Amino acid sequence: MTSTERGIAAAEAHSAHNYHPLPVVVATAEGAWMTDVTGRRYLDLLAGYSALNFGHGNRRLLDAARAQLERVTLTSRAFHHDRFADFCTRLAELCGMELVLPMNTGAEAVETAVKTARKWGYRVKGVPDGRAKIIVADNNFHGRTTTIVSFSTDPEARADFGPYTPGFESVPYGDLAALAAAVDEHTVAVLLEPIQGEAGVLVPPAGYLPGVRKLTRDRDVLFIADEIQSGLGRTGRTFACEHEDVVPDVYVLGKALGGGVVPVSAVVSSREVLGVFAPGEHGSTFGGNPLACAVALEVIELLRTGEFQQRATELGAHLHHELGPLAGGGAVDAVRGRGLWAGVDINPSRGSGRAVSERLLARGVLVKETHGATIRIAPPLMISKADLDWGLDQLRHVLGV
Ligand SMILES: *Cc1c(COP(=O)(O)O)cnc(C)c1O
Repeated sequence: MTSTERGIAAAEAHSAHNYHPLPVVVATAEGAWMTDVTGRRYLDLLAGYSALNFGHGNRRLLDAARAQLERVTLTSRAFHHDRFADFCTRLAELCGMELVLPMNTGAEAVETAVKTARKWGYRVKGVPDGRAKIIVADNNFHGRTTTIVSFSTDPEARADFGPYTPGFESVPYGDLAALAAAVDEHTVAVLLEPIQGEAGVLVPPAGYLPGVRKLTRDRDVLFIADEIQSGLGRTGRTFACEHEDVVPDVYVLGKALGGGVVPVSAVVSSREVLGVFAPGEHGSTFGGNPLACAVALEVIELLRTGEFQQRATELGAHLHHELGPLAGGGAVDAVRGRGLWAGVDINPSRGSGRAVSERLLARGVLVKETHGATIRIAPPLMISKADLDWGLDQLRHVLGV
């Protein structure tokens, strides 16, 4: 047995098989590169589903974490700590909002947004108790909790996990008329990904997000943008909504907010909306902990200069310039995306998304398929152009183009 085989067998022996990882056992990582237990190097074109926008082992993020490790790591929210105010203030500033409610994982932040919208609906909008409705989009991905999978349209994510939480209605993504028809007097929120990541990096038609903004404003409904994957630089802007000059009522953030170091998520909104919470009504032991705040503060600092957004714009243009011509050429059916983020639909003649991912692994490139036939390309935003080009060469090679 090789050390890779041993590592995989050991992992499979005592873990639930809720994932099907590629056969590589990572030992170390730096920047856009990971090294496995045999010393082989791989270019990371997944970046932890965009949790690693600033790269592996980012010096500034590690220094911030290290310094905080020596000071205090956890207080619980029973007490104040001296990183909390700065974190909330800076994050609110970055979002152009007023209040922040910190959590840990993305799913928890989505749950928090759902609770926020319902409470806002009852207390501010005046929806009769127990009647609040939240509209979501088909093929959404917002996490894995029982409530969130209740409004998933993906049978794999949902089956066998009922009974399902009521109060949600799903409409086709990108279809403004369907959304307008679904809004009624009990609707408290529309919850959307401005670009659907897990669905295959689906960019909605131009005008859709502004249409959602206008509709929700006109009908006194909250627009909740789940920017957990699309936000914090990935698309070339701090938020994907910015591409269409849209400001939602609520941002849901996660993934890159923790810099790939610790899980950090947050709901960010106005005083009118997040102000609905009173002590005891919601919380988390770890949410807003000192270590999380210290790392996230440095993430916010990295984003404030705009250099990562600029890089994602420039390298993203290059990425799409290189990938675009592949579409329709036999190997690739379609390419979508924005900034340094692309979904590449592989033509079945070249094998499944999984097969292509395995062939890329063999050539030293790490990606992961989504929904069978789509390869997602989302490298750390600090990747060099030369490395990205090398990765694209490997992709063309395994596709035979
Ligand atoms: C990853 C993701 C989530 C869930 O985040 P977790 O940290 O895995 O719970 C929610 N929404 C979107 C858009 C995501 O990409």
